[in-house]
Amino acid sequence: MSDLSVELTAPNGRKYTQPTGLFINNEWVKATSGEKITSINPTDESEIVQVDAASAEDVDKAVAAARKAFKNPTWRDMASSDRGDLMYKLSQLIEEHKETLATIETWDNGKPYSVALNEDLAEVAGCIKYYAGYADKIHGQVIDTTPAKLAYTIREPVGVCGQIIPWNYPLAMAAWKLGPALACGNTVVMKAAEQTPLSILYLANLINEAGFPPGVVNIINGYGRVAGAAIATHLDIDKVAFTGSTATGREIMKMASINMKNITLETGGKSPLLVFDDASLEQAVKWSHVGIMSNMGQVCTATSRVLVQEGVYDKFVEMFKEQVKTTSTVGNPFDESTFQGPQVTKAQYEKVLSYIETGKSEGATLVTGGEPFKNAGGKGFFIAPTVFSNVKDTMKIYREEVFGPFVVIASFKTEEEALEKANDSTYGLGSAIFTQDITKAHRIARKIEAGMVWINSSNDSDFRIPFGGVKQSGIGRELGEAGLEAYTNKKAVHVNLGTML
Ligand code: NAD
Repeated sequence: MSDLSVELTAPNGRKYTQPTGLFINNEWVKATSGEKITSINPTDESEIVQVDAASAEDVDKAVAAARKAFKNPTWRDMASSDRGDLMYKLSQLIEEHKETLATIETWDNGKPYSVALNEDLAEVAGCIKYYAGYADKIHGQVIDTTPAKLAYTIREPVGVCGQIIPWNYPLAMAAWKLGPALACGNTVVMKAAEQTPLSILYLANLINEAGFPPGVVNIINGYGRVAGAAIATHLDIDKVAFTGSTATGREIMKMASINMKNITLETGGKSPLLVFDDASLEQAVKWSHVGIMSNMGQVCTATSRVLVQEGVYDKFVEMFKEQVKTTSTVGNPFDESTFQGPQVTKAQYEKVLSYIETGKSEGATLVTGGEPFKNAGGKGFFIAPTVFSNVKDTMKIYREEVFGPFVVIASFKTEEEALEKANDSTYGLGSAIFTQDITKAHRIARKIEAGMVWINSSNDSDFRIPFGGVKQSGIGRELGEAGLEAYTNKKAVHVNLGTML
């Protein structure tokens, strides 16, 4: 233990060393401002620990380290396969430490431990491994023009990348951004969300242990308006990648214009899920439940707007209510039977409760939930899973992102109306269609305004498949091969093979 780490015992009895400083140039350092972030356990509202909050000056230091590393031949000229080896080693270390990482994630964020371990950590290790495999498969092209010219492209790293991540999937969001950035040979300054600062610091030690050269990955905590803004406006950062709210995304876009940074934005959504008369209702109910209620509804692609065809509407609402009753077990996230833990913070808890009040006053029908969930201790940011039906498209709860265990259900008559309703949103992130008619499914998939369409499922994303939104849900794509596009520039080389007469 030093003054930049502390020995902790998590509620599940796991003991570990929690770093609390800033990880810059492969070293733990203190924040210059002396400012702290207090991490709160959302399950019982107790303080877990305080960590350092970076100032703009600390961001400068991290950027300087990343710039030096970007120019350092040890990284810049490293054989691409060796870069892949380092990443593969990191994925193995994540696998070895997954119980501790999942414990921290659950403690700090409130998500069920079984989900953190079996879903989030599997994704984190898998995503880094996937991009490790890409490190030596990022090729340019030879482009045929005329016999007098040889033209080819070189795919170069963008440079120093600022990465600003949210609190709903702290480690997974880190992996989605680190994987492609490192595979392409960039260097990184990553800022975690102030609501969940802990797991990323533990990951920093694994990055060091894997053997990445100093400065390649720098990890800081800090407040959005201070450290986040310092990243978005920094003149020596070449790219900023952000996941979070649409409002902040818009601000980041403005700030990043200062030096025309390359940007990738992953923002909000109010994703529709369409259930047609001919769907398997049982499957539609199961998937739509997972699509909105998992991760306490704190999922950017949550299918939070369920549109059901008239003929099966009443039956669907009844079955959905039953599914919530039997499956959405709310409680301590370390209990194995828990499906839904607390919301991440008091602010998020209050935000969801205020939307519940709005739904009631707007005249929607409350099917179930609609209040805080009180556990035995009476503490924690728990909300009873909430379903509103008979929701009109003029209502605020139909149009705005709630980011909680909160779903609105509305009806439609025809395919045409379903599409019109689905597309009547400023967002365009996820979407889902339930039907047994394969022609109809593909017809709608083409017409729906969304970055992703699930046919007969919801939110079963995969790191091998591109992820991102249209409209005000973001710019650019993460994951899959598309994720590499976001972290490389194409340089065109023209070689004259002719003789000028
Ligand atoms: P946010 O967008 O404010 O925060 C996300 C990240 O951006 C954090 O790291 C934060 O520190 C940083 N940030 C905040 N303000 C910044 C600024 N001015 N400059 C640079 N960086 C800044 O999100 P939030 O306040 O934590 O949550 C509010 C709402 O955002 C939620 O209710 C939800 O609707 C949405 N949200 C969406 C996602 C998603 O995955 N799309 C994730 C988290 C939150």
